[in-house]
Amino acid sequence: MSIIDVRDLNLHYGAQHALTNIQIEMQENSITAFIGPSGCGKSTFLRTLNRMNDMIPGVTIEGQVRIAGEDIYQSSVDVEILRKNVGMVFQQPNPFPKSIYDNITFGPRLHGVTQRSVLDEIVEKSLRAAALWDEVKDSLKKPAHGLSGGQQQRLCIARALAVNPQILLMDEPTSALDPISTAKIEDLLEELKATYTIVIVTHNMQQAARISDKTAFFLHGELVEYDVTPTIFQNP
Ligand code: ADP
Ligand code: ADP
Repeated sequence: MSIIDVRDLNLHYGAQHALTNIQIEMQENSITAFIGPSGCGKSTFLRTLNRMNDMIPGVTIEGQVRIAGEDIYQSSVDVEILRKNVGMVFQQPNPFPKSIYDNITFGPRLHGVTQRSVLDEIVEKSLRAAALWDEVKDSLKKPAHGLSGGQQQRLCIARALAVNPQILLMDEPTSALDPISTAKIEDLLEELKATYTIVIVTHNMQQAARISDKTAFFLHGELVEYDVTPTIFQNP
């Protein structure tokens, strides 16, 4: 079964048709890259997968998005639980103005974890999974904003992982980073794929070619190509 199954998805911003009849399925433990020119609907599409568009005034969404078999647009769905399961990482690293420790424990606390030893474990496990533990283990109480940009982005990944998601959505996660930090995150995604399903929007074709299993190409709100990545990139 596909972990993400999108059928007949249409999205309007007021009168503007931003997504048209999107059909796509994504498999568990895969990386899918979304590419296409600026304004073609990549971010909009990504945000439909954890209902981050809902709060925008004037948005209408039709069709179905199934995550692990459940239609996430049914009224019975708890959006907080959905966003715990389908985490998001943005282009600009956006740690909370808190300590490294408090950034990681924020989500787990929100979802009822209070025991100190359990929180400590989550912090270590999440930071290790985000390849950041060794760099920050002696400064967990220091402000997250003291970290470099690349470290902050890995912290944001760790923060998303701390609430045990199945899916990680990433909107241009390396566009604001230098090449070395970018390479670190690309390597990290390759490791995370063993545990999570990753959906990434990128402006960077080479990045899509390097890291993704499948690539989807958007144009004017439509999905115009979707295939295994080597096939997408073999065309001149
Ligand atoms: P991207 O990097 O995906 O091209 P943009 O720079 O187009 O993003 O948009 C940045 C932010 O502004 C996004 O959150 C997007 O939803 C919002 N945005 C883009 N276009 C509009 C618009 N026409 N009206 C209101 N908000 C918009
Ligand atoms: P991309 O991520 O491919 O750059 P977006 O999904 O950001 O594209 O935008 C797709 C279209 O929807 C663009 O025309 C953009 O201006 C519009 N748009 C994006 N966000 C908003 C918004 N919050 N309100 C109105 N229009 C938006």
